[in-house]
Amino acid sequence: MKIHWQGERLSVAEGDITRFDGDAIVNAANQSLLGGGGVDGAIHRAAGPALLEACKELRDKAWPDGLPVGQVAVTPGFRLAANHVIHTVGPVHAKSEDRSQQLADCYRHALDVAAERGFSRLAFPAISTGIYGYPPAAAAAIVSDVMRERLPNIPGLEVTLVFFSAADAETFLRAANL
Ligand code: ADP
Repeated sequence: MKIHWQGERLSVAEGDITRFDGDAIVNAANQSLLGGGGVDGAIHRAAGPALLEACKELRDKAWPDGLPVGQVAVTPGFRLAANHVIHTVGPVHAKSEDRSQQLADCYRHALDVAAERGFSRLAFPAISTGIYGYPPAAAAAIVSDVMRERLPNIPGLEVTLVFFSAADAETFLRAANL
């Protein structure tokens, strides 16, 4: 993973999040929790079929109507290098409605669960900026605000924001308030 920027406990990297070795990676899942395209598909392929089974169990036991936007659910990482997957559902971008708080909630709730479980290394993809159409620069401002606000309160946690391309990492850094 190539590091583009490094702060005290926050890094901006370029690479494939399925290769991240740490306590958890965050998955930009959909409400069904049953797999999808983009980073979700890549995570399921790398984790192996046990991840889908664990997600089906979450649907059966905890989230029969699917995972609401902004909420999180945790599974093991199975064959991934990371020990856990924190699944979250980002908002689909809409011109007619401000969904920034829903996007912020994905990051806040994933940080909360990482803090509860005492995780020390966590990676996020750029939630909602692919198939869900959130403009990357707008997302960058939201994400960097959450990190500035929350990370100081979770002293043991290091966060890596993983972008799939160098261009995406640089777009983030131009728009972020770090
Ligand atoms: P969403 O449906 O939330 O928009 P996507 O998976 O379509 O989620 O895209 C979210 C972001 O994840 C996009 O910026 C996409 O380029 C990126 N992405 C896709 N695959 C990977 C991967 N293996 N590692 C890191 N980022 C990825």
